[in-house]
Amino acid sequence: MKFDIAIIGGGPAGYTAAERAGANGLRTVLFEKKAMGGVCLNEGCIPTKTLLYSAKVLDNIKGASKYGVSVSGLPAFDMEKIINRKDKTVKKLTGGVTMTVTSYGVTIVEHEAS
Ligand SMILES: Cc1cc2nc3c(=O)[nH]c(=O)nc-3n(C[C@H](O)[C@H](O)[C@H](O)COP(=O)(O)OP(=O)(O)OC[C@H]3O[C@@H](n4cnc5c(N)ncnc54)[C@H](O)[C@@H]3O)c2cc1C
Repeated sequence: MKFDIAIIGGGPAGYTAAERAGANGLRTVLFEKKAMGGVCLNEGCIPTKTLLYSAKVLDNIKGASKYGVSVSGLPAFDMEKIINRKDKTVKKLTGGVTMTVTSYGVTIVEHEAS
């Protein structure tokens, strides 16, 4: 199959470029060697924010009495639940990106480009 443009990398730069190229009628192929969404969705922005949110909730509970809210027992992290929530969020967003990119007619090749 012939393409008008090949994009290397399915991170925010690559998937945005692919969406635009596809939306403008170019036959587009995108190569991603690891995971769609790149660092931002898989390791950076999104996972860190979900983990930080759990820390924020715990911190809020610890300071609840200041706001007239009493909590019985000590708050604690459940790492398994926290990681599961993070994984679920990442999966939802990377799935959404893949769906959006392909909806513009872009072909995704899960392989390293050279
Ligand atoms: C801990 C952390 C937290 C962050 N938090 C934020 C934040 O809150 N807000 C924010 O704006 N930014 C944040 N960033 C930065 C953000 O992750 C990057 O700016 C963004 O991911 C860059 O996107 P990109 O598409 O240029 O590159 P990347 O996300 O690195 O994507 C590049 C993709 O190309 C693929 N690839 C590379 N070479 C090839 C090849 N030869 N063939 C096929 N595929 C290839 C890689 O597998 C990768 O998926 C954070 C980064 C980190 C590490």
